[in-house]
Amino acid sequence: MIEDGWLISTNPATGEEAGRVPVADEKAVLAAVERAREAALWWQGLGFAGRRTRILRWRSLIVQRIEELAELTHRESGKPVTDGLIEATAAVEHLDWAARNAKRVLGPRRVRTRLLVAEHSGHLEYQPYGVVGVIGPWNYPIVTPVGPISGALAAGNAIVFKPSEYTPVVGQWLADSFAEVVPEHPVLQVVHGLGDVGGALCRSGVAKISFTGSTATAKKVMAACAENLVPVVLEAGGKDALIVDADADVEAAAEAAVWGAMTNAGQTCIGIERVYAVEPVYDRFVDAVVAKAGKLRTGEEIGPITMPKQLDIIRDHIEDALAKGGRAVLGGAEAVQAPYVSPTVLVDVPEDSSEIREETFGPTLTITKVRDADEAVTKANDTPYGLGGAVFGKKNAIRIARRLRSGMVAVNGTLTFVGMGNLPFGGVGESGFGRIHGDDGLREFARAKAITVRRGPSLLPAMTFERTPAQVKQIVKALRLLYGRKP
Ligand code: NDP
Repeated sequence: MIEDGWLISTNPATGEEAGRVPVADEKAVLAAVERAREAALWWQGLGFAGRRTRILRWRSLIVQRIEELAELTHRESGKPVTDGLIEATAAVEHLDWAARNAKRVLGPRRVRTRLLVAEHSGHLEYQPYGVVGVIGPWNYPIVTPVGPISGALAAGNAIVFKPSEYTPVVGQWLADSFAEVVPEHPVLQVVHGLGDVGGALCRSGVAKISFTGSTATAKKVMAACAENLVPVVLEAGGKDALIVDADADVEAAAEAAVWGAMTNAGQTCIGIERVYAVEPVYDRFVDAVVAKAGKLRTGEEIGPITMPKQLDIIRDHIEDALAKGGRAVLGGAEAVQAPYVSPTVLVDVPEDSSEIREETFGPTLTITKVRDADEAVTKANDTPYGLGGAVFGKKNAIRIARRLRSGMVAVNGTLTFVGMGNLPFGGVGESGFGRIHGDDGLREFARAKAITVRRGPSLLPAMTFERTPAQVKQIVKALRLLYGRKP
């Protein structure tokens, strides 16, 4: 809700105010980017070591105040405080890893020279973009922005961050706590508002945009950025599948499926929304999932649905699944009781139902019986999305994981890849492109810079008008010697 230039954030469970922040307009966004340009020069000048120390100080400050941050996240998004603590822990992991590894991944290095320019040495380094715009969603208001922010900061960029209108106070907390350890320049700023403020950020002259949110908005962001050829990294929605193979530990698979599907009330981009279980383990798996999910209580482990309009989408998907012949073995259409949705497990849901095809973003799970792992992979991959996924099994689990069309897969676990700062994170297809986290995530926020340096006179000059026909012949002869033979 916006009132007199203030964005008022409320707890979705109680309606209580969680805090208020000033709304930015286009002028304010441009001014923030202008300030960030100055800050970026200073931040870049600190070098890898200076930035590392400061990012690690911020990391430590977050750890010291982790309860405060988790409590704030609970007040603003409704998620259980324990979930906020775990989310903050993941953010700390990414800050720590990025700070410690930026120099290794992005710092200057020599590369081996090549035949055509043998008298030159090659040098490679990755330089920061300058100012990076980060646009974030509400579902994980700590870790989803901190993922790209950690990479972008460690690479040497200043940041202007636009949090979701549903979680601006957590966004403000991140920028304020960073300013406590880096008071000199506004290296991490935050601008608040609705979608138009995100649009203004795309057009503000930032050198790169990192967007996390829905696929529909990702397309708008990319279109806005295309106007000025601003590169983008897009972390969008998903419809992740879990495959349970014949030799899986069924109890463990059920436990991980329930957590992967229901944590954060199912409002997880990499949440498990579909399971394909092979025939021999199907019945046992369904029983185990129902037993475990049936114990979860709304208002306790299952928090509220943060965005009210999502309740209609969840209800529509459940009703569509039931209308098309699916059965609810837990929950069902009546599971949606605003602002909560109780755990719902659906079986026999046809593949053309919205519950199978579209992102539901609620604590629902479909379980489909399949002949074998091949059928499971075909069905799991039959979606325009491709974010994460999971496999439970022994002998063939990794082979199955490789065949899933997605950026990440957990074997004998769910969502685990998000907890490793050294693994890249990102999707394929409608789930977006580009990567955050890991070496690839650091490179996402820096431009490769190639430099050659003459180290002596040219014996066989190739790149000059002053080369002689005899020298060109010599070059071709050397080429034949080195590369002419069939491998
Ligand atoms: P939205 O796409 O609705 O919003 C994301 C952000 O974009 C918000 O800050 C939003 O502002 C802003 N925005 C809205 N319109 C525009 C615009 N035209 N130009 C620029 N920015 C704009 O996503 P949600 O916040 O609803 O987040 C849920 C979605 O995020 C799900 O689809 C989920 O799968 C995905 N997600 C993906 C992740 C990943 O890593 N791949 C991780 C987490 C979530 P405002 O809130 O004010 O509208």
